[in-house]
Amino acid sequence: MAKKVTKILHIEDDLSVQELVQEVLSGFNYQLYGASTGLEGLKLAQKVNPDLILMDLNLPDINGTELTAKIKSLPKLQHVVIVALTGVSEEQARELSLIAGCDGYITKPIDLTQFPKKIEAFLRGEREVVSTEKKEAIRKHFEVTLIDHLTEKVEQLQKSNQLLKKQSKQLRRYNRNLENLLQVIHSLQLSSSPEALRHQLLKELNDQFGYQRSAFLEVDHEQMVLRVTETYGYQEEVWKDIRIKYRAPYYLNMFKEHQLLAFRSLRQITDQETKKILKQLKATKFLFGILGATQQEVETQTTPDNLRQLFGELTPTLHNQEELDFEIIQEHLQEYLSSEIFYVGGYIFIDISSLKASVQPYDLKILEMLLRTAGIIYQNLRLREQLKELFIRAEKDAITDHLTNLFNYRYFSEQLVRECNRAHRHNSRFTLLMLDIDFFKSYNDTFGHQAGDLVLKRIGDLLRENTRGSDFVARYGGEEFVIICPELSKKEGKQLAEKLCHIVGSTPFPLEEKLPHKKITISIGVAGFPDDTQSPQELIRFADIALYKAKNSGRNQVQIYCPSDS
Ligand code: GH3
Ligand code: MG
Ligand code: MG
Repeated sequence: MAKKVTKILHIEDDLSVQELVQEVLSGFNYQLYGASTGLEGLKLAQKVNPDLILMDLNLPDINGTELTAKIKSLPKLQHVVIVALTGVSEEQARELSLIAGCDGYITKPIDLTQFPKKIEAFLRGEREVVSTEKKEAIRKHFEVTLIDHLTEKVEQLQKSNQLLKKQSKQLRRYNRNLENLLQVIHSLQLSSSPEALRHQLLKELNDQFGYQRSAFLEVDHEQMVLRVTETYGYQEEVWKDIRIKYRAPYYLNMFKEHQLLAFRSLRQITDQETKKILKQLKATKFLFGILGATQQEVETQTTPDNLRQLFGELTPTLHNQEELDFEIIQEHLQEYLSSEIFYVGGYIFIDISSLKASVQPYDLKILEMLLRTAGIIYQNLRLREQLKELFIRAEKDAITDHLTNLFNYRYFSEQLVRECNRAHRHNSRFTLLMLDIDFFKSYNDTFGHQAGDLVLKRIGDLLRENTRGSDFVARYGGEEFVIICPELSKKEGKQLAEKLCHIVGSTPFPLEEKLPHKKITISIGVAGFPDDTQSPQELIRFADIALYKAKNSGRNQVQIYCPSDS
């Protein structure tokens, strides 16, 4: 029967030690195995069932003492001889490993002459033993160190717990701010006008974010100044005279001197202006941001350095012609131009001098988001207002005669149809007056068209001034006018016409005494709805016929239409 070969497994992460041991033991009749981690060692032990294990106590994955205990707990391996082979020379570690199940202990560096002898002795059954008292002492010591260890761990946990608490508090605050932001944006979206938005924005800065003092600065692009159009938490007078001039290019110094935190790119504002603001507003620290969207993003807590870097990109190294990269310059220029023409609704000034908590980068981020969105809403509101104004003006333009400021012919035609329909529906009546200036051609020919225009204007004013608000006065064309008088009978209409004839006849006009007939006068024809007709076209024709009658009857008089006239 062949002699059984003795198997030795060396569990050691330091390969040079493994090699050395192999070399030392190579002259003996051993089968050597090596493992460089605890896990690997355990597996190999179970596989090859070694007679002896050389155990490094400091393994990368598991403590050698623990691994020893583990191996000794396996029924198949409980008789294997385990020898601790380690650089740890403390008595305690040595005893601990013996308690855990090691049968012997060899310290590094290995004594080469003694080493094979020791291995042989262990294989023969020699053991290192620990007395019961020692074992008890170690156990006690171990308990104490365990408590120390645990106390330390608990302290660490408490510390990280505190940190977590602080972070979660910050997160909650951030979260709350985000919720506020959404709410504020929603409320801003409901603003009905730019003024309402300005007011709401500053109010929300206070209510939701605790910025007690703020101001809205409107950009006056023509004068190149920022003007205060809304304030919160200030007496109005404080801001009254503040006009902040701005000029290109960008300006940097104010950031250094006044602890300004910029969270959007800034136009130039002179140092003097800044000093003026600070003096007037008694603010030592403030935020200043653009309301609206520019395409340049500025980092939070802008320092002169990163501003210089940001704006410096706009003025590349011009001193060295050879370094110029035109592609980059063009890019910068485009960026610059697009941000210049991009909409800037205004600026927001926030006094943070008396703020209890310091402004955090995420506070600035939230403000930035708020102002960007508010800017877009503000722009829309302003555009809407401009459109409304344009629309009203266009509408008024379309219905007005520009010389006399009376309604024009087109609008009169529509109004006459409407009035006919209305009177028809309500079974009511109205009267139409058609007026014409007498011998107006001769006035024009003598004193010129411009003088004639003034007469037309004056007569237009007289007609409006001496009729009711419900009467509709229009210029029919040339020197002819029409008046629709709702609810007026033909008889009442005639009385009104006679009054107007008298008023024009007795009103002095420039140079009229030089006219052959010495006075500016008018003739008026009157037709009534429904007495004469219910048709708008016929009503005009009949009033015109009556007017013709007045002219033929000697002018400066009123004639009413009679069916026999046609
Ligand atoms: P009649 O008493 O018959 O109405 O005589 P008339 O000269 O007023 O009548 P006619 O129709 O011959 O002349 C109308 C004049 O009104 C012709 C023109 O010189 C003048 N006229 C028409 N429109 C304007 C205008 O917009 N401005 C001025 N200044 N004159 C106008
Ligand atoms: Mg005339
Ligand atoms: Mg005429």
